[in-house]
Amino acid sequence: MGFLVLFEQRQGVIKEASLEVWSLVQHLAGIVGETEIFGLVMGDADAAFISKRCSGKGEIHILKDKTFGDYCPRCYAEAAVEMVVRAETEKVFLANTAMGRDLAPRLAMRLDAALASDCVVEAEGAGMLRAKTTMYAGTVSALIRTLRKRTVYSIAPGQCRFEGSAEESVVILENREACLLKPNPVFKEIAYNRDGKDIAESDVIVAGGRGVGSKQNFVMLESLAALLGGAVGASRSAVDEGWRSHADQIGQTGRSVAPKLYIACGISGAPQHLAGIAGAGTIVAINRDREAPIFKAADYGIVGNISEVLPRLERALGGFQGMK
Ligand code: FAD
Repeated sequence: MGFLVLFEQRQGVIKEASLEVWSLVQHLAGIVGETEIFGLVMGDADAAFISKRCSGKGEIHILKDKTFGDYCPRCYAEAAVEMVVRAETEKVFLANTAMGRDLAPRLAMRLDAALASDCVVEAEGAGMLRAKTTMYAGTVSALIRTLRKRTVYSIAPGQCRFEGSAEESVVILENREACLLKPNPVFKEIAYNRDGKDIAESDVIVAGGRGVGSKQNFVMLESLAALLGGAVGASRSAVDEGWRSHADQIGQTGRSVAPKLYIACGISGAPQHLAGIAGAGTIVAINRDREAPIFKAADYGIVGNISEVLPRLERALGGFQGMK
């Protein structure tokens, strides 16, 4: 059996979520046994960085042609399918990022493969894998066993962090062959969070909802996030109000995040929001309504007005940091 990991790069930088997928696949292969592992990076990326961050066994191919610089659905799908066929891999894994969500179904369709989306994957032994995911805004848990020969798994970011393997035999192969397809033209690139941290890759998220009250009030959240080295997220209501960009939205129709610490400020805790934080570690909720549903999901709750609580929290945390 063969496993293929599709890495995602942006401006040559490999996404943390893809490195997690690589560690997951190494972990699964260790249980399943008798598995060849391949990786494919479409676009130029630093081979030394990949070699440093990807432990275990396998062969990682970097397609350096500049056609792959930006995500082009046709070129990426074509190159990935070619790799699957050439390496005879049966399971394809990629991170469930915006790109992964677009690419995974295209691949499944072209490969006549099954698709398990936004999932975590476990090995059942004897070469069998099973995927777990949630549906209907996290209200239903699903266990997926696929019957097709091939399966494409898009892996929920932040939910499969495994220690690097002791085995260090990853071979990196750089391929400079030109892509024969013409990429889709990019007319305009709209980059959100160019300066800020990406919520999907942050260990700490300070998220705000309608209870933050205004766009200006998000300064309080930004300040706390900066102190903690984190990123600022938002509920859909805050995005709908125009206080934050859609790239910051967390939840069913936003992004799934898995920080170690999630601080929810003025967020009621609707199921559609909670669906996006299923992988969060410690959840702290600040809300002036003690009956708010978010407190049921939270590990720690602070009942109060965020404009009073946040400055005090920041002062207290700043004090702790000063003691270090
Ligand atoms: P509200 O529900 O209005 O809650 C505001 C909270 O702030 C209240 O609990 C209030 O007590 C508290 N508050 C007010 N003022 C203060 C203050 N000064 N200090 C402290 N607390 C205060 N939502 C998402 O977030 N993400 C999604 O991806 C998403 N997808 C959806 C998809 C579908 C199909 C649907 C139908 C809905 C979706 N929603 C999503 C919307 C979701 O149902 C909720 O409406 C939304 O999450 C509510 O946002 P909120 O908690 O910020 O606002």
